[in-house]
Amino acid sequence: MITVSEAKNHIIKHGKQPRVEEKSLSDALGFVLAETLLAKIDTPPFDNSAMDGYAFSFSNWDKKSALTVIGEVQAGSENSLKTAANEAIRIFTGAPAPKDVDTVIMQEKVERKGDKITLLDENLKQGSNIRPKGSQTKKGAVALQKNQELTPAGISYLAGMGYSKVTVYSKPKVSVIITGKELIKAGETLETGKIYESNGIGLTAALRQVGIEPVSVTQVDDVLKLIENAIKSQLSSDIIILTGGVSVGNYDLVPAALEKCGVEKIFHKVKQKPGKPLYFGKTSNALIFALPGNPAAVMTCFYEYVVEAIDSFTQKRHLKSLTLPLENDFTKKTGLTYFLKGKTTENGVKILNSQLSYMLNSFAIADCLIRLDEDKTEYKKGDLVTVLMIA
Ligand code: AMP
Ligand code: MG
Repeated sequence: MITVSEAKNHIIKHGKQPRVEEKSLSDALGFVLAETLLAKIDTPPFDNSAMDGYAFSFSNWDKKSALTVIGEVQAGSENSLKTAANEAIRIFTGAPAPKDVDTVIMQEKVERKGDKITLLDENLKQGSNIRPKGSQTKKGAVALQKNQELTPAGISYLAGMGYSKVTVYSKPKVSVIITGKELIKAGETLETGKIYESNGIGLTAALRQVGIEPVSVTQVDDVLKLIENAIKSQLSSDIIILTGGVSVGNYDLVPAALEKCGVEKIFHKVKQKPGKPLYFGKTSNALIFALPGNPAAVMTCFYEYVVEAIDSFTQKRHLKSLTLPLENDFTKKTGLTYFLKGKTTENGVKILNSQLSYMLNSFAIADCLIRLDEDKTEYKKGDLVTVLMIA
């Protein structure tokens, strides 16, 4: 059995080279840039007014007289009027500043009578309320660096310099295979021994949470040949997640089925709770995670391990880790890393009740997984712990 850190290192080490693709900017939210983008143009592309007001030449104003308004310029249009001494042009936000004009006074700061305006802004300086050409980005300068995640603002920023396509890291194709003879679907009669299947929909939702959809979900009985066929039919995926049948029972046939499919085992069993029987392997194309079937173990292994592999494709860290003080004491066994369902509070993080691997009642209201170290047994209120934010 290997430690949690060793297991995570294996996943990082065996991660695949990320693929890239060209995407329309309108579909690129949340993707990570696979290229450094240079500003295609100066932004703003021309000197323009930051206010609705009056534009004039500061040095050509005698600082005593009212200004005479000789014309107007609207956003989207142009005005080639030239101002003489003590003349101004009515201007609106975003309109290009006419030649010879370097200053705008906002309309609220003037008194207008006919075509004369008296300036009432004592703080006005040369250059006030003009947004100079290239003052955000100069053409050819770096607009956004490679590996920057595209936010809504980032998309708007790139659109503002004429971009309509970007090259980003691709998301992996993920398939889910659910195993277990006892599993029935919602709506079917719950006969003794049967349970409602919940890992498939839970994993689909968790994958959607990290931006992966659609996901194919197959369900098979605990029969070697059936599991084998299900795996074979998904080997073109980048990541395959199996649940159930990975432990040591007579019907835990997943490791044997994976071997028959030519999957190279990287590790099987990790010193952790929940999710001790976790299996990780690969083919030339796919990474394979076989998770124990208990629903809380499935979710824990997904957030702690599978997301790491997804991140290696997308080059994006989907879940944040924090260091927080514990709100309660906890005693654990030595030799296993614990991942406990937790809830962050104003002061730190609280360990929830119902931590067993078949229980989801605490997981359902948790916003984080609290990691307790392998070697430590006694945790006291106030001890600092690492938490993985999952909500
Ligand atoms: P296994 O890993 O196959 O030994 O399953 C461990 C426990 O998880 C058993 O109690 C199973 O009934 C339960 N289980 C396995 N798969 C699922 C599933 N897809 N949905 C809900 N419970 C499951
Ligand atoms: Mg089973």
